Amino acid sequence: MPALRLLQAPLASLALLAAAGAAQGATEPALDPAQPALTCYTNITLIDGSGMPARPAMAVEVDGERIRAVLPIAALPARTQPGMTVVDLKGAWVLPGLVDTHEHVGTSPNRRVAEANLRRCLYGGITAMRDMAGDARFLAELAREARLGEIASPDIHYSALMAGPGFFNDPRTHMAARGAQPGAVPWLQAITPKTDLRTAVTLARGCGASGIKVYADLSPELIAAIVAEAHRQNFPVWSHATVFPSLPADSVAAGVDSISHAYLLGYPFMVPTPNSYATKLPVDPAKVHEDDPRLQKLFAEMRRRGTILDATLTAYVETDRQAGAKSLGRGAIAERLAAAAYRAGVLISVGTDHAGAPDSPAPALNEEMELLVEKAGMSPADVVHAATQVGARALKLDAEMGTVEPGKLANLLVVAKNPLADIRALREVILTVKRGKAYPRIDYHQPAPDDLDGVW
Ligand SMILES: [Zn+2]
Repeated sequence: MPALRLLQAPLASLALLAAAGAAQGATEPALDPAQPALTCYTNITLIDGSGMPARPAMAVEVDGERIRAVLPIAALPARTQPGMTVVDLKGAWVLPGLVDTHEHVGTSPNRRVAEANLRRCLYGGITAMRDMAGDARFLAELAREARLGEIASPDIHYSALMAGPGFFNDPRTHMAARGAQPGAVPWLQAITPKTDLRTAVTLARGCGASGIKVYADLSPELIAAIVAEAHRQNFPVWSHATVFPSLPADSVAAGVDSISHAYLLGYPFMVPTPNSYATKLPVDPAKVHEDDPRLQKLFAEMRRRGTILDATLTAYVETDRQAGAKSLGRGAIAERLAAAAYRAGVLISVGTDHAGAPDSPAPALNEEMELLVEKAGMSPADVVHAATQVGARALKLDAEMGTVEPGKLANLLVVAKNPLADIRALREVILTVKRGKAYPRIDYHQPAPDDLDGVW
């Protein structure tokens, strides 16, 4: 009879854990379910997310939803106490839960599709995501349920969108404001020089958003004013890389916390620069030059300020894939510009901007990480750092998550093989832990195609 007893029901189905009989110092689980669960994940190689080298023969102690200690296995026996569940992970690799910095789960709210996507993300190792604009009424409901563990989902941190009035002809804004007027609701606000920005930012915060998404059709002066007021209210601002007519350098100079889409870094090369989101033409790859001094100056300024590039390669590669022979090569432009940003030392986060195919067992984040290695030249170690600590920093939540260290949220990803040798190892998930709660991959069931047919 193994000494290991498992407190949390979902763990019981994980064969690997059930077989882990020889765990060190295992004792009786807590009898009172109201007591915070004390769990020790031991016999792991730890990649802590900080960029430090991996450490073998480690253990992570989790108390409730927080990490209590990170220590060598050798230090464990002295610490074993009644009620502690010990889980022997038999040499598996543990890293912080991943952060997807560009999702859209509520543009056109559909509960079934959203839950299927969120569930796949969580069981794929993603413990937090930044939703980059949608229907905040729907997102608030999902975010609450995700936060409380009522649905299997990463924590959801969503944004409130701001743009010039002309942008609200975009059909997506009408879907995300059904029953109300896009541009005139707290999560989709039309901004003009006459807007009372103190009220606008307060409204954005009041709809439960975690930051402002600066989307389109705003002047450099208005972006600067939005950032100044948002930061005064201690609220991050996440901008599109080009906001039309404003250029990437304008958003960066305004002090935004991140810019999205490496592809949009190509617009300063287009002359004349498009003056609105709706009238822009595709970037011409022949006009993009990675060593252009203006681009290098932009990257130097981003590095100096710590502005994060949310590269979103997979969304553009997917657009090309769908266009087939008519592809405009957007993915290749995005890859070239992300590679140049990486070489210049810009912080890159891992965002997808699309959910991926419904029948894929892995979230789109895996493809994004692989593209960053294969096409943008990032080392797997830098991609792991990008998908953990940098992602948490993009959310301004790096004090809470993004690394495995005492006091932080117990958000962990357990994989069978070394992702620093091959980033594809992150597809072989054994277990996700979010806020201390374990989600063994073996419990994940892919929805049948018919389940989501026509609604995904
Ligand atoms: Zn987006």
